[in-house]
Amino acid sequence: MQSSIIGKIEKAKRYAAEPERIRVEGFSVTVQGDNRDHHVEFGEDTWSCTCGFFSEWSICSHTMAIERLLAGLVPAQPLPVASATGT
Ligand SMILES: [Zn+2]
Repeated sequence: MQSSIIGKIEKAKRYAAEPERIRVEGFSVTVQGDNRDHHVEFGEDTWSCTCGFFSEWSICSHTMAIERLLAGLVPAQPLPVASATGT
């Protein structure tokens, strides 16, 4: 293998071991839910999902799953504060 490529691979390993170097600025993914697919987007520190739960709570299992996969690369989503009635 070319020595220049070997050097790039070594550098890639070092970058990957230092995730604080990387900041995800946006992406678009499809999450295969139990019943149907859901479209999750992230951009400008804002999450969105096409599922009904997200439209009400601004967080859902799909966005939380992606957040777990990209732990440390995307800002953590605040969990909704429980309402006073506990519902
Ligand atoms: Zn969702």
